[in-house]
Amino acid sequence: MTTAVVVGSGPNGLAAAVRLARAGVDVHVLEAADTIGGGTRSAEMTVPGVTHDLCSAFHPMGAGSPYLRTLDLERYGLRWQLADIDCAHPLDNGDAGSIHRSIEATADGLGVDGVRWNRMFGDLARNFDVLAADLMRPIANVPRHPLALAAFGPRALLPATVSAKWWRTDKARAMFGGLAAHAYYRLDRPATSAVGLMLAASGHRYGWPVAEGGSGAITQALASMLADHGGKIDTGVRVRTASDIPRSDVVLLDTSPRGALDIYGDAVPSRIARSYRKFRRAPAAFKIDFAIDGHVPWTNAACGRAGTVHLGGSFEQIAASEKAINLGVMPDRPFVLVGQQYVADPTRSAGSINPLYAYAHVPNGFTGNATEAIIAQIERFAPGFRDIVVATVVTSPAELEASNPNYLGGDIIGGANTELQVVLRPRIALDPYSIGVPGVYLCSASTPPGAGAHGMCGYNAAESALRYLRRQKKDVG
Ligand SMILES: Cc1cc2nc3c(=O)[nH]c(=O)nc-3n(C[C@H](O)[C@H](O)[C@H](O)COP(=O)(O)OP(=O)(O)OC[C@H]3O[C@@H](n4cnc5c(N)ncnc54)[C@H](O)[C@@H]3O)c2cc1C
Repeated sequence: MTTAVVVGSGPNGLAAAVRLARAGVDVHVLEAADTIGGGTRSAEMTVPGVTHDLCSAFHPMGAGSPYLRTLDLERYGLRWQLADIDCAHPLDNGDAGSIHRSIEATADGLGVDGVRWNRMFGDLARNFDVLAADLMRPIANVPRHPLALAAFGPRALLPATVSAKWWRTDKARAMFGGLAAHAYYRLDRPATSAVGLMLAASGHRYGWPVAEGGSGAITQALASMLADHGGKIDTGVRVRTASDIPRSDVVLLDTSPRGALDIYGDAVPSRIARSYRKFRRAPAAFKIDFAIDGHVPWTNAACGRAGTVHLGGSFEQIAASEKAINLGVMPDRPFVLVGQQYVADPTRSAGSINPLYAYAHVPNGFTGNATEAIIAQIERFAPGFRDIVVATVVTSPAELEASNPNYLGGDIIGGANTELQVVLRPRIALDPYSIGVPGVYLCSASTPPGAGAHGMCGYNAAESALRYLRRQKKDVG
């Protein structure tokens, strides 16, 4: 039987494993951690009975993933849950923008910018499925939907600071800044509109759902499906060299490019090794998990109904703090993402104790303590927050890397979204998944289409591996 080993069980490793197993390949997954899931795991971190997401929390791109949607993961226990408001963005004057799944409901709260919100995102959201089918594949593929792509491309290539001029109101401009900040890159650089546009379009198509019971339900569902197709997973196995990998026809690496180099060393052609060494890291996350008694005392009540709350103030303030972290400077007021997953999914809470997560964008390798800066950003829009905190667990960039070797220096998006790397990652190549060693493929978020619990990097890498197996005359579906 044709065999594959997948190193790493993040959403991409598991998506690759499922794709290969469904093609009739005998798949063996090796995971360094004691639990599966990588950046898509959940655990009781603070108070017994309170479930926290270790990393990914909101999944517009997961629910809208061209591959995951075909798998019917609901059969394996996955249930998406939506908050009333997907994302709120409070301002210092007490006002707050609200992004709803419905474009109309979002536009209603935006006054003169309502019509503009519709014009900016309406067509993209309606065409999201066809756009995703093209954009979530490597760029070398011939587009299947050139018209939709032609409408997206020119806007996506603009720096977010230029796209921001489209808005008349501070509120809409700030909301757009919060979306664009998911790129983790300087907003005055080309192509930083792309991530914000895709996030808004996917959100208006699918909402920003959480997985009932915790994000780990996504990777658990993939693992159950893999088991149904005969695949097996071993945890607690850190692959350090190629000799740690059982003999197999293909190998898929859910690792960073550097991780692939560590494993395959001199077997990687020097040209590819050079580009892996030059692959740029993104800034880092500094994360705090809180257990809170009751609800956050937001000044603007809409924030209490939102799954995600973006804390960064105005567009200009967000652009300045994102520029600073990309220059290696810790801003006084970093961009902070607050996750209130329990608002959509009350099963995460224990009585009146609710889980809340917040992470700040900080420079890569940041060794300071961002705890006070994060709490200050929450207090700025929710005075009295400190008084409801009953427990905290702080995870620094170094601790993130210790928990997952892919998070180099605390980079949680698998490599910077620079002008080049946002599409051509981890190197310029017709097959960006190939590491140049026959039959070995990189399948992590460091490959197209980049970060997120959508499994598309894994799916695309598995397709490359299947093409290789067919060339070897192996019998695969
Ligand atoms: C705080 C935080 C918040 C996030 N929020 C969101 C969000 O809301 N929505 C969203 O879609 N995404 C979010 N993300 C990003 C998302 O988690 C990642 O993009 C996604 O998990 C990447 O999947 P992956 O399979 O490429 O890698 P990972 O999920 O990182 O998995 C890689 C796995 O490989 C294992 N591994 C690596 N090297 C080896 C080795 N040598 N031997 C054995 N095992 C190895 C690791 O232990 C890990 O389990 C967030 C991430 C973080 C950290």
